[in-house]
Amino acid sequence: MHKQAGLAFALCYPSPYKVGMSSLGFQTVYRLLNGMPDVSAERAFLPDDVRAARASGDPLRTYESARPVGDFAVVAFSLAYELELAGLAECLDMIGLPLFADERAAAPRPAPLIVIGGPLTFSNPVPAAPYADVILMGEAEKTLPELVAAIRAQPDLDALLAHLAAQPGFYVPSLHGTRLPAIAAAPDDDLPAYSQIRTPNTELADMFLIEPERGCHRGCTYCVMRRSTNGGMRLVAPAKVKALIPDDARRVGLVGAAVTDHPGLPEILRAIVDADREVGISSLRADRLNDEIVGLLKRGGYRTLTTAADGASERMRDVIQRKTKERHLLRAAELARTHGMTSLKLYMMLGLPGETDADIDELARFALELARVAPRVVLGIAPFVAKRNTPLDRAPFEAIDSLDDKLARLRAAVRGRVVLRPTSPKWAWVEYRLAQGGFEAAPGARAGGSRTGRRRWLTCRSRSPRCRYPKLPTPPFRRRRWRSPRSPPGRPSAGRRPERSPARAAATGSGARRSR
Ligand code: SF4
Repeated sequence: MHKQAGLAFALCYPSPYKVGMSSLGFQTVYRLLNGMPDVSAERAFLPDDVRAARASGDPLRTYESARPVGDFAVVAFSLAYELELAGLAECLDMIGLPLFADERAAAPRPAPLIVIGGPLTFSNPVPAAPYADVILMGEAEKTLPELVAAIRAQPDLDALLAHLAAQPGFYVPSLHGTRLPAIAAAPDDDLPAYSQIRTPNTELADMFLIEPERGCHRGCTYCVMRRSTNGGMRLVAPAKVKALIPDDARRVGLVGAAVTDHPGLPEILRAIVDADREVGISSLRADRLNDEIVGLLKRGGYRTLTTAADGASERMRDVIQRKTKERHLLRAAELARTHGMTSLKLYMMLGLPGETDADIDELARFALELARVAPRVVLGIAPFVAKRNTPLDRAPFEAIDSLDDKLARLRAAVRGRVVLRPTSPKWAWVEYRLAQGGFEAAPGARAGGSRTGRRRWLTCRSRSPRCRYPKLPTPPFRRRRWRSPRSPPGRPSAGRRPERSPARAAATGSGARRSR
């Protein structure tokens, strides 16, 4: 899209193109801005190969006109989750701007207005705050038109920021500090969000994305999108969803926190697959799956039935108010088999407060039961990361070696019969620090988007004021007690390598040798 306009936004996604173009929020902001009179938006993304892009010495440029991003009046970033802060810092650096707002204010050259928005603002945008002039909290359909009107009315930056700081939904870190304003909600008439551009070069190739509902009416205690956020679930009429799907869209993605809770879902799905289109749904609730819905998904090209259990056991699911029961998951496994799916994939969390080895054993037992029903069972396992704006805010992160032990215990119990796809506990801990952090966590993103950068940040113990990494506590490894052969009974000695846990030893088959 090329447009000449008086007010030009560069819209940056702090991950590579294929990730950014799969973001319905990013696409929606692009469409909204270009739909406003005398406003244009061009896209820029974190390069696929950051090192090569840096070595070229070329600044970050937009896709539409190849103009340097730093030449735009406004540079807006969409942040989906905590670890994208590293990409944000990388992009600002490649634009040629000082990273932090106070550094830009002191620079001799005027800088663009740096705006941040996106899903991260529903929980904790404070670690992103030092990078931003202004942060749009919540739903952009509400705040974007107000931002554009304010920029037009207030050419002076200080006056603009003072004006925005007084409006609901605008977080101006230089004026608000860490005090967050309320999250903005779009009027229901502005729904649904839908994609502007379909491209083969994304995670969701050539898929038209549309949002038949927004929010959720359920109350899982770890979830930012639970019913207390922006009034819970808002539905879009099936007729409106169907009318917005372009005639030439061969693949349609239905996006939302609780799409399977939409009472009109079968009608929408039927219209899509009857038109010979493929379909995808961002989240399937196991207790909403039935023969009709899974049959329609199969006709729409599904090969893997993916849902979430989140808690390792029935007890843990009750604790976190996740209403999914074993019978729902067993039914999902039966439906996957009946409809000829190749796999059942379940998302789980480990390390919830109060979880014990008995919960892990129950998960192993139940996963094996599922594997006797579904053709193939895959568990996607992520460590629990407490988020702000949820009842489990401030819950601690489980010790990394304890999480490793639980994974090893599970792996040993289901080996060869269930596939495990775990997320690294160390990177989850970085996410936790950012999810729970304040301004002091911001420089962590400066460590860069690379694994090396994050590792340096994770392990940095420097207390030097010149250190470019933040002063974080060391990762939460469990303090183990180790009895030296020379210690008197009952007295642990310090400084020895800790003994490997029985679970980990069992997983590697070497425990007996070591304990002899
Ligand atoms: S985890 Fe899913 S079902 Fe639970 S509150 Fe969040 S969006 Fe709703």
